[in-house]
Amino acid sequence: MQFMSANTVSHHLLEAAARVRRRAEDVRQAQIDFLADLIRLKTYTGEEGPAVERILAEMRALGFAQVRADSAGDALAAVGDGPLHLLYDAHLDENEIADEADWPHPPLEPTLADGKLYGLGASDCKAGVASIVYGAYLAAELGITGDCTITVQGSTLEEDAEGFAMRHLMEQDGLPRPDAVLLAEATDLTLRRGHRGRCEVKVRVRGKAAHASTPELGENAILKARPVLDALEAMTARLPRDPVLGPGTQVVTMIESPHTPNSVPAWCEITIDRRLTPGETAESVVSEIAAAVAGLDAEVFLPIQPVTSWTGLDLSGPAFFPGWLLEEDAPLLEAGKLTCAALWGRVPRVDVWKFSTNGTYSAGAAGIPTLGFGPMEEQYVHTPHDQVDLEKLLKGAMFYALFPLAYSYVQSIGWESEASK
Ligand SMILES: [Zn+2]
Repeated sequence: MQFMSANTVSHHLLEAAARVRRRAEDVRQAQIDFLADLIRLKTYTGEEGPAVERILAEMRALGFAQVRADSAGDALAAVGDGPLHLLYDAHLDENEIADEADWPHPPLEPTLADGKLYGLGASDCKAGVASIVYGAYLAAELGITGDCTITVQGSTLEEDAEGFAMRHLMEQDGLPRPDAVLLAEATDLTLRRGHRGRCEVKVRVRGKAAHASTPELGENAILKARPVLDALEAMTARLPRDPVLGPGTQVVTMIESPHTPNSVPAWCEITIDRRLTPGETAESVVSEIAAAVAGLDAEVFLPIQPVTSWTGLDLSGPAFFPGWLLEEDAPLLEAGKLTCAALWGRVPRVDVWKFSTNGTYSAGAAGIPTLGFGPMEEQYVHTPHDQVDLEKLLKGAMFYALFPLAYSYVQSIGWESEASK
């Protein structure tokens, strides 16, 4: 197979792109109204219920099939009926308001100004939700789902435990493994193909308690932590490095001990924030750190992150979120470039995210090819200036409308990556 340039856009795809651009204008106001409704709903992590109801109602009204919520409370529906299975994902939970006084517009009152819609969660990730819902709708309505069945997911719990809800959906609730996952997080209409992973690690140093008046009878765990801290810092120079994502990092972020000012501490616990390159596993991280602190009376472990869905389901699990990177010549990435080229006549920048996403499960844990595209801008994420440009929002829907056809095309011509030959 010849290397296919994204500039080689088939006539069929160009014709469909023209129809998408025209028809998207007709649903523009409905898409904005839907997004405004989502912004009005305060949906902190674990409290997504009202947004799930709202997106389910929208997808029902738009004629989607299999409109339902899974047991963890994710909103799901499908369009198309082809053999290739795409999962469109955007999360419904949002970062919490730190200080409402900092917001130029009230965070829960969607405000239109200068062609932008302002409000909490607009950039992370509700404009992404509106993009995938209206994109899937346009694809179905225009009859251009190609060889694809598209599952649209408004997911939960992403801000606190990215990937946990998606793991549950695939491993417990039986969603068939998709051929590819698209994440509608902030990319400013460019493509993202990965990010570093992250995890929390605890190192517990053992001592022996004694009254503080007789320290010679105890073993001070805080003093014993000194060489442990030195060893942890010394190993940072040797952390794995990825040529695209950069080096892993490791930072000691907290030290805790018994809250007893007049005792020799029997233990102290060091918390580490670790950023990961693709391929690192929970086992590899723990064993590296354990090797670095060997012989220092320290125990290394991954803490369990407590997570409960709004439906009351316990999804707690190790606080480990692997990194991932889609190959530069992956068919999925080629389909993303083709989609943009057909719609707007040029191939967008391809980059990686600074932040972590549900891709930590789909790509990092499950190994499913995953790609990011969204109309929102990273600079407004988790800020009081939370907003989305409405021209870009419309383009978000256009991308998700045309993508299945571009993906079908790439698959049908047997495009395979250089690496797999
Ligand atoms: Zn997000």
